[in-house]
Amino acid sequence: MKTDRSVFCLPVLFTLFALLFLPVAGFSEQEAMATGNASTPQPAIPQKIDLIIHGDYLVAMDNGGTVLEGGAVAVNEGVIVAVGKAADITAAFTATQVLPGNNRVVMPGLVNGHTHAAMTLLRGVAEDLALMDWLGNYIFPAEIKFVDADFVRIGTQLACWEMIRGGTTTFVDMYYYPDTIAEVVESCGMRALISATVIERPSPGADNAADSLAKGLEFIKRWKDKNSRITPIFGPHANYTLNEAQLRAVRQAAIDADVAIAIHMSESLYEVEYSKKNYGRTSVEFFDDIGLFDVPTIGAHLVWPTDTEIPLLAERRVGVIHNPTSNMKTAAGIAPVVKMLEAGVRVGLGTDGAASNNDLDMWEEIRLAAFLQKVERMDPQVMPAHTVLNMATRGGAVAIGLGDSIGSLETGKRADIIQVSFDDVHFVPAYDVISHLVYVADEQDVSTVVVDGRILMKDEEILTVDTARVSAQAKELAARIEKALDTLNSK
Ligand SMILES: [Zn+2]
Repeated sequence: MKTDRSVFCLPVLFTLFALLFLPVAGFSEQEAMATGNASTPQPAIPQKIDLIIHGDYLVAMDNGGTVLEGGAVAVNEGVIVAVGKAADITAAFTATQVLPGNNRVVMPGLVNGHTHAAMTLLRGVAEDLALMDWLGNYIFPAEIKFVDADFVRIGTQLACWEMIRGGTTTFVDMYYYPDTIAEVVESCGMRALISATVIERPSPGADNAADSLAKGLEFIKRWKDKNSRITPIFGPHANYTLNEAQLRAVRQAAIDADVAIAIHMSESLYEVEYSKKNYGRTSVEFFDDIGLFDVPTIGAHLVWPTDTEIPLLAERRVGVIHNPTSNMKTAAGIAPVVKMLEAGVRVGLGTDGAASNNDLDMWEEIRLAAFLQKVERMDPQVMPAHTVLNMATRGGAVAIGLGDSIGSLETGKRADIIQVSFDDVHFVPAYDVISHLVYVADEQDVSTVVVDGRILMKDEEILTVDTARVSAQAKELAARIEKALDTLNSK
């Protein structure tokens, strides 16, 4: 496997400096005498920390594209304290826990920028339909009938299990009963932006837009600054499920509460036509005109932004989340991702919900995002491997507003780290680590997941979700849904 270049971050340089000079400066003459040889330099005492994670290869996803052979990450109190060659890290630190890196790649955790986690329970419930038919005639009616806090608890636990299994460490969720979602995230140990969904139609837990907005605000008040891993935000559903006045009200509430918003944006041609007909403008221009982008905005999909809207997305610093599987499955179209990246738009990746995907495997999104642009442009050179891997890590973190704290292995960032196992036959041979991560890896290859310094999965064993219980409860709930749908369909 090839490596790009070896980069020593400041703490490692400091450690090397310390190793060279501290043995002389740090020992008194008496201590030196006691060792019996005053002229032999003594090694500095390694700093005691919580965790060291090794990798045969370390993929930092930092600015310089660092890939190190034989690398390690030092973690203390949830923060990355050093990144570098394993020999330097082990010389400078001893850790309570050490995760070996044989045949492992250590890299930042993946960022799923748009999902509806609890929809795992609706996986496969209605298939092969156009977006608006699927949403209006199947998903919305099924949700109003079946979705309650219990559904959301079990569905979100199932989703967290799957996301941890696949190396996702952060996700942006938009669903109902956000308090329940937050409680699940709190216990499973992941990091999440959790949207309080605002929608005009009757939805699980709320009667209309005003009711969902008021309840959303209460949720935001309860969870703001409660847990550093959980960021409550507003999730106005879209401009075809809310009118202008309602969208303006969400904008104002987000400004007042000082939170971001996540919203479906320019997802389908239906939405584009709806926007033109009802607002006289396409979606992005409409949102800009009503001042929505005064609030930090995460826009999901952006399949149909116009050539004038693309620079606007960059200028207004809208985080765009590309969901290739969902867009292909609902035949929504192909998002102009290359154009958006060229224009400086912040683009991340997402799975969307498991009812339109049908899984939460970010590796598949990485691969399909690359393939879709290549085939659309008839150019294999667009969207190279590193670009698309960046969208799932550092770029995704920037798109959702967490670029300063996660997305890369760099000193000072929160310790959201995964190990990908290269044991499986599909990694043999392995000439290029980045190429294999993008074009080969899938969710079954992730072996270790760490969020905020806490190990959530070790050697493929999920430590923070009771998987047997969740599996049994999910199957039981699904059986009830299936029976009810059968009765409904036979009428
Ligand atoms: Zn969605």
